[in-house]
Amino acid sequence: MKNVFVHIRSSLKLLFILAASALIIFAIVKFVYRPMYSVTFNGEFVGYVQDKDKLESKIKEYMKTGEGENVAFVDIPTLPEYKVCLLKKDKVASDDEIYEMVKATGTTYYKYYAITVGNEDKIYVPDKETAEAVITKLKDKNSSNKSKLAYSEKCETEVKEFTETEKAVKDLYVEPVRSTYVATTGSVGSYGGTNSSKGVNIGIYLSKPTTGTITSRFGVRGSGMHTGMDIANAQGTNIYASAPGTVKFTGWFGGYGNLVIVTHGNGVDTYYAHCNTILVSAGQSVSQGQLIAKMGNTGNSSGPHLHLEVRVNGVAQNPQTYVYN
Ligand SMILES: [Zn+2]
Repeated sequence: MKNVFVHIRSSLKLLFILAASALIIFAIVKFVYRPMYSVTFNGEFVGYVQDKDKLESKIKEYMKTGEGENVAFVDIPTLPEYKVCLLKKDKVASDDEIYEMVKATGTTYYKYYAITVGNEDKIYVPDKETAEAVITKLKDKNSSNKSKLAYSEKCETEVKEFTETEKAVKDLYVEPVRSTYVATTGSVGSYGGTNSSKGVNIGIYLSKPTTGTITSRFGVRGSGMHTGMDIANAQGTNIYASAPGTVKFTGWFGGYGNLVIVTHGNGVDTYYAHCNTILVSAGQSVSQGQLIAKMGNTGNSSGPHLHLEVRVNGVAQNPQTYVYN
């Protein structure tokens, strides 16, 4: 019995010694060494990292957002591999360098939108909302390419230069051309007016702006020049825009009385004078045949009528070359 006790006691003593030495060894190891990760990247040893979790989440975040605007994602073909190891504390960790190295192998893909005309990329915009806004505006303006307009999402490694909404609308707009009037000296005279001007190809179809009787035509009148055509009807008769365009001026303008000027591109402006009421405002887009004013007797006028002018680069043309012929 006594022998057994002696045996247990010596065993305990041995155990204590073992535990104590393990503790001492552990303390020394902990003092001198620390756990780190040895990193292999594309099959090559590249260094040690201290904080593997932080590095991994930084890489993941970079793959999702990249740097800069309009990044769809970043493709990093291979990710680093990690192996835990104990290293002497003076071993330098290179977490940041490894992050930069991994980043450098990535390919950034950008997401943006192309506005297409007949499936051909014409203009690039940063987002879908802008693409939709540009197309809506062009449709509102009755651009003649409106049926061929679309947009498509792009995911490319190169980012294109973006065009802002107003410029995109301006660049893509195509004047609706229904027919082109090319008047010659010969044919103008055959309309029976008092005009003697040569017709100018304005590349725009002008429709009749109102109904009524032509009371005065373009040309020399008395000692001066009548720069337009007069169409008389009852006060308040509707006056419509002769072509799509943008209202350039509305308001009182001397002898013209209440005047509306619509600009149509190609240097072509139409003037609607002596109006009783003006129904549009400057800067507004109008479509062909849109009601813009009511006939009146304002300014230098002796009875309700519309004085219609067609000006090309500021020079009055015979309206009869284009309308009422
Ligand atoms: Zn007149």
